[in-house]
Amino acid sequence: MKILSVNAGSSSLKFTLFEMPEEKELISGVFEKIGLKDSFYTIKFDGEKIKKEVSLPSHNEAFELLMKELVDNKIIDDYAEIKGVGHRVAQGGAYFDKSVLATDENIDIVSKLSQIAPLHNPAAVIGIKAAKKVIPDATQTLVFDTSFHQTIDEVNYMYAVPYEWYTKLNVRKYGFHGTSHKYVSMKANEILGRNDTKLITCHIGNGASISAVLNGKCIDTSMGLTPNAGLMMGSRCGDIDASIVSYVAECENLTASEVNTKLNKESGLLGISGVSSDSRDIEEGINNGDERCILAQKMYVKRIVDYIASYYVELGGCDAIIFTAGVGENSISTRKQILDKLSVLGVKIDEERNNIRGKETLITADNSKIPAYIIPTNEELMIATDTYNLTK
Ligand code: AMP
Repeated sequence: MKILSVNAGSSSLKFTLFEMPEEKELISGVFEKIGLKDSFYTIKFDGEKIKKEVSLPSHNEAFELLMKELVDNKIIDDYAEIKGVGHRVAQGGAYFDKSVLATDENIDIVSKLSQIAPLHNPAAVIGIKAAKKVIPDATQTLVFDTSFHQTIDEVNYMYAVPYEWYTKLNVRKYGFHGTSHKYVSMKANEILGRNDTKLITCHIGNGASISAVLNGKCIDTSMGLTPNAGLMMGSRCGDIDASIVSYVAECENLTASEVNTKLNKESGLLGISGVSSDSRDIEEGINNGDERCILAQKMYVKRIVDYIASYYVELGGCDAIIFTAGVGENSISTRKQILDKLSVLGVKIDEERNNIRGKETLITADNSKIPAYIIPTNEELMIATDTYNLTK
């Protein structure tokens, strides 16, 4: 059965087509600059990457072109062969603890949740509507970044703010990257050969979050009401003193929203280094002796270690630490710095095993008290799996 996994942004549309249940990736690609000048798309298929410049006034045209490429490349003969389309949705609030069908009622809830996810949910709704228009017969589903975190207890999800902010405004921790934390924790349990495990899953990419997963269920996570909580990230600040917002707004004559944009787009590794949000550039800066890159990396690693230590205590131990996403899968030096700082817990890195990128690997020594693994994430496959289960 052919299942399409879709991730719509405000001006982009990423897709991967799978043959399920074989989990075979048939074709993937991304449409960029939708609704803007110089729009284009790239597709990866049969080991080849093709780029085409086209006019993309809206997500509808992107979907139509996507389907045309599937036919032109003889992946399908007829649109009806696509049985399911799974849509990634950032914010499901407290409404969705699992993936669901994209009924009008559920799409309405996703739209209403735009209030707490203004950058993400409106784009998802546009993508869902475009897919429904172009392939109306396929089963459409909603897969939420937040569902996996719905098992978190109120002690962990409440903020110590006026209670009415929770009841009236839904202010609480929701967490994100749930599809990824779920995927790698399932894989880790497969590796460990059991489900009664205490896992610390580190999704460290441009955005970054850490979760504590007990017996397959999330009990805590570092992101919050929005994805700008917890760890220091590529360009996001993560946890800061909340009073900084009004202080900087007053001093610099900015609105709260302008300060928020700076905390999301001009902070993190980029803000401290002044060089880049990409950890490869930070590594290069460090090699060239750039003091601010050195400081940025030290701060970045410290916060990751703080969360791992905190979740170790919360879980009452740890059976495995998992690294995933861009930095977690690829940055040999960042993983080493983190694991070295965890030596107090009996963690022992194996530098030879750690000298690898993007492959499922045990990276600690056999006598390490806690094993650490790289497990490449696959959010697209997780979306396709949930969609297949709701479609078949
Ligand atoms: P993601 O958001 O998961 O796609 O991760 C993207 C980030 O991964 C980039 O911004 C880089 O910081 C990081 N990254 C990707 N490749 C490497 C690499 N080879 N070494 C270090 N960091 C990397």
